[in-house]
Amino acid sequence: MPEVSRRQFLASTAAAMAAPFISTSSTRARAQESGKLGVAICGLGKLSTDQIAPALMKTRHCRLAGIVTGTPAKAEAWKAKYGIPAGNVYSYDTMDRMADNPDIDLVYVVTPNALHAQHTIQAAQAGKHVFCEKPLEISVERCQQMIDACRNAGRLLGTAYRCQYDPHHLECIRLVREEVFGKPTILQAGFAIDVGVADQWRLKRALAGGGALMDVGIYALQATRYLTGEEPIAVSAQQTSTDPVKFAEVDESVVWTTRFPSGVVAYCSTSYKAGRIQNLRVNAERGWFELDPAFFYGGNHGRRSDGKEIRYPEIDLFAAEMDDFARCIIERKPTRVPGEEGLRDVRIMQAIYESVRTGKTVSLA
Ligand code: NAD
Repeated sequence: MPEVSRRQFLASTAAAMAAPFISTSSTRARAQESGKLGVAICGLGKLSTDQIAPALMKTRHCRLAGIVTGTPAKAEAWKAKYGIPAGNVYSYDTMDRMADNPDIDLVYVVTPNALHAQHTIQAAQAGKHVFCEKPLEISVERCQQMIDACRNAGRLLGTAYRCQYDPHHLECIRLVREEVFGKPTILQAGFAIDVGVADQWRLKRALAGGGALMDVGIYALQATRYLTGEEPIAVSAQQTSTDPVKFAEVDESVVWTTRFPSGVVAYCSTSYKAGRIQNLRVNAERGWFELDPAFFYGGNHGRRSDGKEIRYPEIDLFAAEMDDFARCIIERKPTRVPGEEGLRDVRIMQAIYESVRTGKTVSLA
């Protein structure tokens, strides 16, 4: 190839391959050296302790390199348990100092919902990639600020939607895409938990942004979107509360219906108190399939109208999502769960709350 056209070819290839974020050569070199990216967990609560840290031990492309916590006793316990060096321990106020720490490549934000923007932006400004728990934040505006901060820093932002890595959910997506039972007609999805004691951030609007819908209803909403592959065009919703004292600030139970451009409708439910709701069902032209339980950390399985089961060997969903995100950073690929995906759900949840308030169908078209 002549030199000029070779240079043109290389320049145009580089432009075509430019990812929306920068995987620095030093990040790739370190990952190649150790085979793993250094992850700092921000917020050492229940999910971090019981799920994320143990899952990190099972990943191929990540290692637990650091922590961010406001509790010195937790810092000591985690340092001892996971061999974290003192120099990789940060408080929420000192996260900017991560900028000088090449041992940390990405920050996994696992704090209460309304702190996600603050911690994501701090991490991005320190030059770190960010993987953030759901919901991405409590308003569309804050989600956008997080997306902008990561984009401006040239870093990747991911939303921790673990169900997008569950083989049971992936099989349901395949059944819809390949129209194994024909086109879908009506979807049903619901997720309820018992939220527990009254004195916790999940029941405070300023920290949670909302109640059952923001916390677990989001899984039902997400599922209706990735199953159809469509964005809802209208939503209508109602809420009910049997304990207005405990649920004075956030929703206890919400039911909603969404309409999609193809004509598919979904009816969904969520609650902090309604007992067991754990299902995802697709009715289609020539049959149906469902998962129940659908949204647990493990043990999800289901069945189809032709008598077949939907059941796969157990995997650690947290390890799977972390590994995939790390691979995207190393290989400079977009993630299937970008910040924009988290923002879309927050926008729809805001519309669901608007419908509850106004009693009217809210257009999303
Ligand atoms: P948690 O209450 O157990 O932990 C929250 C952590 O944030 C604690 O370590 C707490 O000390 C810290 N924190 C920092 N500032 C705080 C403040 N001002 N008020 C209260 N706590 C503060 O909560 P969790 O269950 O670990 O949830 C954390 C995040 O993870 C939430 O966004 C939640 O939606 C999400 N989550 C996701 C899943 C999932 O399956 N992906 C499951 C549970 C929780």
